[in-house]
Amino acid sequence: MVMIKNRVELETINPYVTAQRQVEAAARKLGIEEHVIEILKRPMRVLTVNFPVKMDDGTIQVFEGYRSQHNDVVGPTKGGIRFHPDVTLDEVKALSMWMSFKCGVVGLPYGGGKGGVICDPRKLSKSELERVSRGFIEAISQIIGPEKDIPAPDVYTNPQVMAWMMDSFSKLNGSYSPAVITGKPLILGGSEGRNEATARGCVITICEAMKQLNLPLEGATVAIQGFGNAGRISANLLAELGCKIVAVSDSKGAIYDPEGLDLAKVEQLKDEATILDYGTSYQIDPSSLLELNVDVLVPAALENVITQANADRIQAKIIAEAANGPTTPEADEILKANGVLVIPDILANAGGVTVSYFEWVQNLMNYYWSEEEVNEKLSTIMVRSYHEVSKLAEEYDTDLRTAAYMISILRIKKAMKLRGWI
Ligand code: NAD
Repeated sequence: MVMIKNRVELETINPYVTAQRQVEAAARKLGIEEHVIEILKRPMRVLTVNFPVKMDDGTIQVFEGYRSQHNDVVGPTKGGIRFHPDVTLDEVKALSMWMSFKCGVVGLPYGGGKGGVICDPRKLSKSELERVSRGFIEAISQIIGPEKDIPAPDVYTNPQVMAWMMDSFSKLNGSYSPAVITGKPLILGGSEGRNEATARGCVITICEAMKQLNLPLEGATVAIQGFGNAGRISANLLAELGCKIVAVSDSKGAIYDPEGLDLAKVEQLKDEATILDYGTSYQIDPSSLLELNVDVLVPAALENVITQANADRIQAKIIAEAANGPTTPEADEILKANGVLVIPDILANAGGVTVSYFEWVQNLMNYYWSEEEVNEKLSTIMVRSYHEVSKLAEEYDTDLRTAAYMISILRIKKAMKLRGWI
């Protein structure tokens, strides 16, 4: 029953409207002019493509995909490509907006972009997945490039998909162009530390928040929704720091052990079949994972999972949004009133785009850094950004999300003014 209720909510909450409301709230707090808000509330360019793909059985299937570029005033746009059956144009537009503000929070010379293809990669063979990946990049090739718009992985896309996409673009372009896309395998110009970067950045912000709240990391209980790149690696890094991972979930279900899950076993089961094989007695309703009495909750799957329907039942002290857009504005209000510290997506998961930026810089220089160098640079940026946001939140007596947007909006506005756009 609860699953069905959540599904209905998912369909009725439009992430684009959420993103626009978040921008408006922060901009109004700063007294920003209406015309600036109007610019920031919309992507500057959106492309819809329909491209044919030959399936293994010889039939032709037409796939629909989108690329949204929100604002390129400080540099090329940047953001992942999502392959998912529920991708919508509004979702992609929202994600591109969040990317602009994310890059702004951590001070990267990028605007926001995002792409998506309506497909279920779990139902595609490897060769079909390759043809969908190449077909999409060919379809959007006119508007991407190392100095225009630089895609990256997102939900259900990975380094192999990035490699095919880079290859197609390089062939179209007539020259090897690793800087067109990030999140590539190491041998093709990927960066050390990129695979772990989103989770590492998220964990750094959790550590800073825990210090502020005087909560010890050792023994802190953590529930994680989503066990992919962001969720699984966050679980590992937090466990290394002494935290107790008590619950995890993926698209098939959730498991919970108040004594702490055996993470190595969960990983093995995930790789072999499903985390649910951990044991029936450990299985819980996936929506109840969000409401567990834990110190830290890490939503690391999809958007709109914390809404006004469940926000009041959230017991976590800290929510670190590894996922993009997991919390609706109504839920934010409830969480704030209940004293839950929300580390917003545009800060908590900015580690991914930060190391993507490092990857792009290394590709352009054709000179590569060690993992230690990458992690050290990432840590410097994440710690600095967390405290900039936290300080502004205190100054304006507001939450971290609004403060994070305020920092970004001021940066983008300044650049638009200097370039004569406004
Ligand atoms: P991924 O494809 O590696 O993993 C997604 C995980 O979510 C999978 O384990 C999947 O089973 C799970 N999932 C799907 N539907 C679910 C549901 N209804 N309930 C619970 N789990 C569910 O994707 P990812 O890269 O880890 O991305 C996860 C989130 O993090 C997304 O919101 C993405 O935009 C965000 N993010 C990722 C990166 C990155 O670098 N990978 C960077 C920034 C933000």
